Amino acid sequence: MKGFTSRILHGDLQQPIEHGSLHKPVHTSVAYGYGSAREIAEVFQGKKKGYSYARQVNPTVVALEEKISVMEEGVATSCFATGMAAISAVMFALLRQGDHLISSQFLFGNTNSLFNTLTNMGIEVSFVDATDAAAVAAAIQPNTRMVFVETIANPCTQVSDLEGIGKLCAAHGLLYIVDNTMTSPWLFRPVDVDAGLVVNSLTKFIAGHGDVLGGAVTETGRFDWSRYPHIYDVYKKGDPVNWGLLQIKKKGLRDTGGTLSAQAAHQIAIGAETLALRQDRSARNAAELAVFFDQHPAINKVFYPGLASHPEYARAARLFRSAGSLMSIELMPGIDCFDVLDALEIPIVASNLGDNRTLAIPVAQTIYFEMGPERRASMGISDGMIRLSIGIEDIDDLLADFSQALPG
Ligand SMILES: *Cc1c(COP(=O)(O)O)cnc(C)c1O
Repeated sequence: MKGFTSRILHGDLQQPIEHGSLHKPVHTSVAYGYGSAREIAEVFQGKKKGYSYARQVNPTVVALEEKISVMEEGVATSCFATGMAAISAVMFALLRQGDHLISSQFLFGNTNSLFNTLTNMGIEVSFVDATDAAAVAAAIQPNTRMVFVETIANPCTQVSDLEGIGKLCAAHGLLYIVDNTMTSPWLFRPVDVDAGLVVNSLTKFIAGHGDVLGGAVTETGRFDWSRYPHIYDVYKKGDPVNWGLLQIKKKGLRDTGGTLSAQAAHQIAIGAETLALRQDRSARNAAELAVFFDQHPAINKVFYPGLASHPEYARAARLFRSAGSLMSIELMPGIDCFDVLDALEIPIVASNLGDNRTLAIPVAQTIYFEMGPERRASMGISDGMIRLSIGIEDIDDLLADFSQALPG
């Protein structure tokens, strides 16, 4: 079985299944009993595979981790309670005071907030224009440990120079981390541009129904952890390919406690089964709507990497299966975005993205409000900007609804 969806559906059935169950059971136990004291000691010392305590490991979560590794074509995955828990655990486990991190100036707001928190803990962060690998190269310092970028930025849809930064990181021996949330492994696999770690917010496209939170970090096998300076000796066990994720599990997940519950893991695994179907449909809807918005007199600008006028159109077309379903529109000056949003009947005014339902949100007044007007202006976010996460509704309904809601 080679296909993406076939492997999601049937991959885990290659292992023995309890009672013939088609889904992995939801294991609710916090602790795991052992027949002998020697056995539990061997599990705790890592000499024998087994389950210790559910903050660190749970069989239902492990089944999801294996599914995500298959999806990302990675070596191993660790799941977390949310995408932010995953990113926090990576930073907490791998960075120390005096280290330097390079990231993008176009970054998911909460990740931006986390990185600002890191600066208060003695970690230097450079926010550069990640659409250009040369800007990343110019920011490298002797204490640079990693480069963290997203695939498609929110809300203005800049596409990072994913290949260029991959080559740069390989040349400098830097850990390259790609947040693949916006594209998901169906549209793009960061391993193909030599990322060492891949982050996904499972809350978005992978779970896909807006009813569960989750996050994941996948080891791709491309980074040589024997070159990373902060791996504790106790985690330098066996093949160096496993050292980084082991430390993320031990120092990140275990210490911070951002554990994914078994119930959530089950729900995410169900959602993941239809990832490719949902994303193909929502991306097709988005592509049609982008053309409609582009020609509409009430709209000043459309931010969507599937439009030929987008600055990184060629890059997105080369790297991604499709341009996805996230876009922003900027209304003509004088048109109130609250009026347009309130006139819409189908899209729900809500944050989140990657839901089956089309979601719309005024950007400057909500998700980017806390940043303040100056930072917003530097990111090109105007008061008339609406972010849209296009869903899987019937396209004729969406077109008719936006037609009636937009003036002129
Ligand atoms: C939503 C999101 C996150 C955080 O995920 P949560 O599951 O909401 O914590 C991280 N990165 C990107 C790009 C996101 O869109």
